Amino acid sequence: MLAIDFLGAAGTVTGSKYSITYGDRHIMVDCGMFQGDPDLVERNREMWPYPARDYQALLLTHAHIDHSGAIPKFVADGFDGPILCTEPTIELCELLLPDSAKIMRMEGNPLFSDENAQQALALMEGCRYYKQYEVMPGVGVTFFDAGHILGSAWLEVEFDPLPDWPEQRPVRVVFSGDLGRGHSPLLAAPDRPYQADFLILESTYGGHRHSRISAVDQLCEAVARVQRQRSNLVIPAFAVQRSQDLAYLFESMPVGNISLYVDSPMAARAIRVFERYPDYLNKKACQRLNETEQLLRYQHLRVCETSEQSRAILNKKPPRVIISASGMAEGGRVLHHLRHHLPDSRSMILLAGYQCEGTRGWQLQNGDAYLDIDGRSIPVRADVESLDGLSGHADYSEITEWLSELEEPPRATFMVHGDEESLQAQQERFSQWGWHAEVPQHRQRFQLLP
Ligand SMILES: [Zn+2]
Repeated sequence: MLAIDFLGAAGTVTGSKYSITYGDRHIMVDCGMFQGDPDLVERNREMWPYPARDYQALLLTHAHIDHSGAIPKFVADGFDGPILCTEPTIELCELLLPDSAKIMRMEGNPLFSDENAQQALALMEGCRYYKQYEVMPGVGVTFFDAGHILGSAWLEVEFDPLPDWPEQRPVRVVFSGDLGRGHSPLLAAPDRPYQADFLILESTYGGHRHSRISAVDQLCEAVARVQRQRSNLVIPAFAVQRSQDLAYLFESMPVGNISLYVDSPMAARAIRVFERYPDYLNKKACQRLNETEQLLRYQHLRVCETSEQSRAILNKKPPRVIISASGMAEGGRVLHHLRHHLPDSRSMILLAGYQCEGTRGWQLQNGDAYLDIDGRSIPVRADVESLDGLSGHADYSEITEWLSELEEPPRATFMVHGDEESLQAQQERFSQWGWHAEVPQHRQRFQLLP
């Protein structure tokens, strides 16, 4: 039997986690944490469908916590098989998993310990793109570039035929992971699949088309405005990928000599990970990095790693641009900058990524007049805008392009990693194409083959 249990990102965006049963053995694909809504977060404590120690291997598409964050819990519960992922994914997990353990410890509700995070990291094995690796006897995996964050992959998992299958040929199951847009300043466009018997497809923007205004134009306009007004531009941005993308863009933008600060210890460490993996960048970025050995070369850039460096930013005169984590303003140094600049009507806030419902970033996006930070209600007088062009996720037209090389429609496509509206929109589109498209419910099981 070949079956899949949807343990996360089913009907929602976070918690990506798929349990595969092949014959009488099991593997896990992604093992992410549910985030945001307290009812969702509660799901992080659900039981595995089979004992964790019975899983042979775990395949990981990329380092984001909503795909990797429950791995230490899986390990704490007994999993001790190999975790296959790309090498940059391992290094980014080395930053993200211990940080996640620390945040949970501070919040007083830990799902796992620091030690579990270290045990999980020790199980990770680095894979290259385009090479098939054996997962267990009869099952192979190939990683392809997903263009979403450094080292991100979509997976082609190939299963040798079991005796009960009607057709005695290998079956390919494609897991899209998270797919980039193909416009990333630093990453290449996602590779496209040619064959997929079954497809598990992310649908973050299944019903949305990104604005075609270029991120560079929008960013230039924002910088010009704060330069004119001698004020501040604060960009809450994810420490991994988005902060580097933004700072990299400044190098080629006509922004004069405005001071740019990347204020995040995690972003600073991630820059060094990028610098170790030029081959995982797009051609242009790879070439520049190989020539200079430096990822970010904007002359007026300061990367603030220590808290002294961070505090010193406010002593400098505006205009200035501050890129700081976290991207949804749920924690991190960006809160300090928001507290300072939100009440100033000349300042500008540019939201640079997807904002989950219920987060401070989402409140700002929705035009809330006040924002609660550390128990204080901060008035929002600054101008708030969203920088759409840099999104890390493909929209529906880009997903359609990604699918355009498939020789035949998959036998079934399962839409995941989206809110209800996006999943519905994507399903309707596939139905019009005559595809068999399913929107799995949380913990729903599908038997793919007997
Ligand atoms: Zn992601």
